[in-house]
Amino acid sequence: MAKTIKAPRGTEDMMPQDWRLWRRIEETAREVFELAGYYEIRTPVFEDTNLFVRSIGEVTDIVEKEMYTFREGDSSGLTLRPENTAAVMRAYVQYELHKTKKFQKFYYIGPMFRKERPQAGRLRQFHQMGVEAIGADDPMLDAETIIVAVDMYSRLGLNDVAVNINSIGCNDCRPGFRDILKGRLEEQRGELCGLCDKRMDRNVLRVLDCKEEKCGKIAADLPSIHEHLCPCCATHFEEVKKSLSMSGIDYVVDDHLVRGLDYYSKTVYEITHHSLGARSTICAGGRYDYLVEEIGGPPTGAVGFAAGIEASILALKNAATGDGDNAGPAPDIYAVSISKECKADCFNIVNNLRAAGISADMDFEDRSTKAQMRTANKIGSKMTLIVGPDEIEKGAAKLKNMESGDENEVEIEKMAEFIKELNL
Ligand code: ATP
Ligand code: MG
Repeated sequence: MAKTIKAPRGTEDMMPQDWRLWRRIEETAREVFELAGYYEIRTPVFEDTNLFVRSIGEVTDIVEKEMYTFREGDSSGLTLRPENTAAVMRAYVQYELHKTKKFQKFYYIGPMFRKERPQAGRLRQFHQMGVEAIGADDPMLDAETIIVAVDMYSRLGLNDVAVNINSIGCNDCRPGFRDILKGRLEEQRGELCGLCDKRMDRNVLRVLDCKEEKCGKIAADLPSIHEHLCPCCATHFEEVKKSLSMSGIDYVVDDHLVRGLDYYSKTVYEITHHSLGARSTICAGGRYDYLVEEIGGPPTGAVGFAAGIEASILALKNAATGDGDNAGPAPDIYAVSISKECKADCFNIVNNLRAAGISADMDFEDRSTKAQMRTANKIGSKMTLIVGPDEIEKGAAKLKNMESGDENEVEIEKMAEFIKELNL
């Protein structure tokens, strides 16, 4: 036999038994997003590489080493999207929505691609669902996105998520804070991990949330950004907190919370679930007031989040919300043909039932009547339809209730109607 081919490293197949939960998550997300006035948008899975370089930032993990880029067309090539915010903003600018209707709310659900080192909970093709509210600076909008995310998790049965929020300032106050951090860290530079040593020159704020113990200890003594926010950012942050409290959202201010993407400003947040250990973030978001400008549009305030679907699923499973792996309900009717001659009639009846909106299936492997009956039992259909020559002669078939064992001979013409009246 030829050598088998496996799915690429860092990818997962979603098999039928996984889909029930996936669907519930996606349906719940759609419902909650639409309740709050967000509209679905679907952008391509690949974009001009420049879009990500310009928006996410040249010296971020994603752009430096995690992008799947291929050459085609212009010199920068194309890249499989590592996240969806930049693409949504690209569409906003491309269709000049700022001219027609500046304020827009979008949501998306779909696959993202990052060439990360394969490890537990990290995939190279993973999925995110997220919202983007574009065209307003209102701090209540920051709060709205957090409320929407919390509501989504709560409807999914995940009530014990933690909301961590912070402000990382704006172009007025952040550079000053960066200088302060750099000044403070300069003497201890030798004690930082290799990555943080690099971060010193590129994005010193990221030292604040380094997961290395030694960096964490050093970071604990660093000044808080909250003492260095400009009045505008400080007021904005106060308003966000006020709106959250007013809405009954429990949150924790974590002044070391910063995000890995360059485009954030002011509010940043993460929603975590305690069951996930070190990688506990299931949803991450914040404000990105400079992003639209960065990709060629006018200054436009915007805020949003991206929730990791796989991470959310892990949390749901850990929280034992009752969602197991289950391929979903079996067809209500399983049709068994007694002999080869009846197979065509069986096929016809099954198709007619489906056309009438009744789920039905049958054997396609030419198996014995006994084996077909075994399948009917095993898959858990509610009724078995037995199609035999004697009944066919009379234009009928036998319908067996699998729970009670009751059998009825039913006219084929009236089969769909009869089954519908049973209210299975
Ligand atoms: P992290 O610190 O978890 O790497 P990030 O800053 O790279 O986060 P975002 O781009 O903000 O993450 O993505 C939001 C969420 O998407 C993450 O919290 C996580 O749940 C999920 N996610 C990100 N990268 C991956 C991946 N490679 N595999 C699976 N899920 C991912
Ligand atoms: Mg990451």
